[in-house]
Amino acid sequence: MVDIKERAKALNGEIVRWRRQVHQNPELGLHTPMTETFVVERLREMGIDEIRSGVGGHGVAALVRGKKPGKVLGMRADMDALPVKEETGLPFASTVEGRMHACGHDAHVAILLGTARILAENRNDLAGTVKLIFQPSEEDSEGALAMIRDGVLEDPPLDAIIGLHTGNLWGGLRSGMVGYRHGALMAAADWFTVTFEGKGGHGATPHLTVDPIAMACQAFSAIQNVVSREKSPLAPAVVTVGRIEGGSAPNIIGSTCTMEGTIRSLDPETRSMLAERIKAVCEGVALGMRGRADVRLTLGAPALINDQGITEKLREAAADIVGEGSIAAIAEPTMGGEDMAFFLEKVPGSFFFLPSIPAEGTVYPHHHSKFDLDETVFWIGSAVMANFALTWQ
Ligand SMILES: [Zn+2]
Ligand SMILES: [Zn+2]
Repeated sequence: MVDIKERAKALNGEIVRWRRQVHQNPELGLHTPMTETFVVERLREMGIDEIRSGVGGHGVAALVRGKKPGKVLGMRADMDALPVKEETGLPFASTVEGRMHACGHDAHVAILLGTARILAENRNDLAGTVKLIFQPSEEDSEGALAMIRDGVLEDPPLDAIIGLHTGNLWGGLRSGMVGYRHGALMAAADWFTVTFEGKGGHGATPHLTVDPIAMACQAFSAIQNVVSREKSPLAPAVVTVGRIEGGSAPNIIGSTCTMEGTIRSLDPETRSMLAERIKAVCEGVALGMRGRADVRLTLGAPALINDQGITEKLREAAADIVGEGSIAAIAEPTMGGEDMAFFLEKVPGSFFFLPSIPAEGTVYPHHHSKFDLDETVFWIGSAVMANFALTWQ
């Protein structure tokens, strides 16, 4: 069998070129037609011809069939950018005003193309089939569901799925390492919007009004009591109210006030309890203050849970590439969300972390206008995924 590590290293220049091309042409949400076309063209050049484009809008699913019998492995890369004005000053910066690949999804596309290339060259050694999944709209949590609804998990159905996130999401890991985690890695991310309805009037005569801002203030505190008093202290969860809007002038009591927030949790019981109780508490507070609350919940991605067995095999495949000393267990999950969780809810698999951290002094968080990556480690992602595909069954 060919040396996967050496092959991937040799491909890094190409992977970087692909990343830069995607980076220059960022697309948002479900609308990723240029990236879709770019991916399809590159796959065709590699001799991968079982390609289904337009999956769930602009997603791509392509099959690499091995020469040996075996199971079906999915590999997923997200390909959407963010509504951020790029300020990196890089020669390959975004050419579209107000849009930027500020989360590393440009690298995910390029890294999975690298994997595709290696696998297409090694069909003789590949058992089973690999389904390459290029997904739009991760940031809006719509792409995975759209592709699932459009049958990406069928024909052939998947036995396992893997994917990665690059960048600097987890501290303590340096470029050139691979981070893995058994079990929960990322949180369920749900949203709520509450509209408190009262009765407006003069600020000097509150007794003749029903004050919706007062309701929102009480509900704001009562929600945090749900987190601290009603759930186990051992079950991680956070509720953040990120927006409250009401009123129009200091001496006017308005008739409505809107409150919006996010609910993050790691297990399904806590998730449904929090949603239920936040609704009940807001309605109860409003009622107790002579008003009413209209509570709307939006369910986002579930918690991202890695399968034990597949994560162990992934750890082994990664150790082959970077060595045991550069493999690290991620100590704590993050309360960030990731819509790869929709795939992992249906198919056992593992989502791993490829630290890609630029030189000191140029490190900015994900979604920042100066966010960048260390391009020298992209090949590791391609090599780990290709090696996993060749060794997991
Ligand atoms: Zn992001
Ligand atoms: Zn991301």
